[in-house]
Amino acid sequence: METKDLKVELLCLGAQVSFAGVNKGRKGGAGPAAGGMFLFGNTVANVPTQSWFVSMSPYSIEVEKEEGKYVIKSADERITQVRFPHAKFQELRTEDGIPYNKIALLHGSNCLATTTIQTCVYWNTPKRCKFCAIELSLKSGATIAKKKPEQLAEVALMAKKLDHVKHVTLTTGTTSTPDKGINHLAETARAIKEATGLPIHAQFEPPEEFSMIDVLYDAVDTVGIHVESFDREVLEEVALCKADIPLQEYIEAWKRSVEIFGDCQVSSYVIAGMGESDESIIEGSRMLAELGVYPFIVPLRPIPGSDMENEKPPSPDRMRYIYEEVAGILHDNGVSWSKNKAGCVRCRACSALPDFE
Ligand code: SF4
Repeated sequence: METKDLKVELLCLGAQVSFAGVNKGRKGGAGPAAGGMFLFGNTVANVPTQSWFVSMSPYSIEVEKEEGKYVIKSADERITQVRFPHAKFQELRTEDGIPYNKIALLHGSNCLATTTIQTCVYWNTPKRCKFCAIELSLKSGATIAKKKPEQLAEVALMAKKLDHVKHVTLTTGTTSTPDKGINHLAETARAIKEATGLPIHAQFEPPEEFSMIDVLYDAVDTVGIHVESFDREVLEEVALCKADIPLQEYIEAWKRSVEIFGDCQVSSYVIAGMGESDESIIEGSRMLAELGVYPFIVPLRPIPGSDMENEKPPSPDRMRYIYEEVAGILHDNGVSWSKNKAGCVRCRACSALPDFE
């Protein structure tokens, strides 16, 4: 099986990990949480290991006779060797005793990722995104509510020194302020940049004034403004807060961001498997690519504890079809993950689109 095909299978079906020693990922969090980072072939995948459907996956991880080596198996067939990134920095604590792993985590093979503000203004309202688990990791005590810029600068510096981290992803819950959390992202990014010089990615909702994006100009290298779905009915059903923002506002925010950060430095998550058509994803991605924005297409990740925990991700065959179609569109528009400087697109653990380019 080709690496890209295996990645799609694992992203959609998950893998059974039945022994200690492999990090299955943290429960809850923003983005496609509750997964383990798998390194195989020339790629990396954030693989579901805790959702209900994982027990039905044909894929499992087993230890090879040689100590410390793991393999992915399908039924009894050995597919390929797999490695799990280990981050030494995650074992440290700040001077005031906070474990580094409550402040930031290694994502993919070399990305430091954190949610700067772990609360979201929509969380306790009917408007919250049903696929999200941002406050669950906070409730369980696995993280802290607001990370200070100096804490993140300290962690990032050690992650660079000890684990050769190459870039940083900062996301945030949406705040009640008109900047939607952008000011705290900018302050945090500046502190990390000053300490490490690493390229930084920041994710946020379209702010009330698009000029608020400008504040990130000298602080970050790439941004993510996530529409999640181009099907407005789906958005109304699963992410009312996003449905409240007209598509045109997203378009203006993407355009402004491309002007500031450049082609291929702006991205949007597009989630497949929430009831939309293939056409909606493919044509939406075409529009993004024509704007110079990278459509970061991911299969739905039903995170345990989230409102969508009992849903099923789309089939690997459907995802392969979408990835093949959109990879062609990216090629025609000169958009590629390889041009992106930092964040989810550069990390690529959660989407197989880069692997299909
Ligand atoms: S693609 Fe983004 S959310 Fe996924 S593992 Fe990488 S940095 Fe984290």
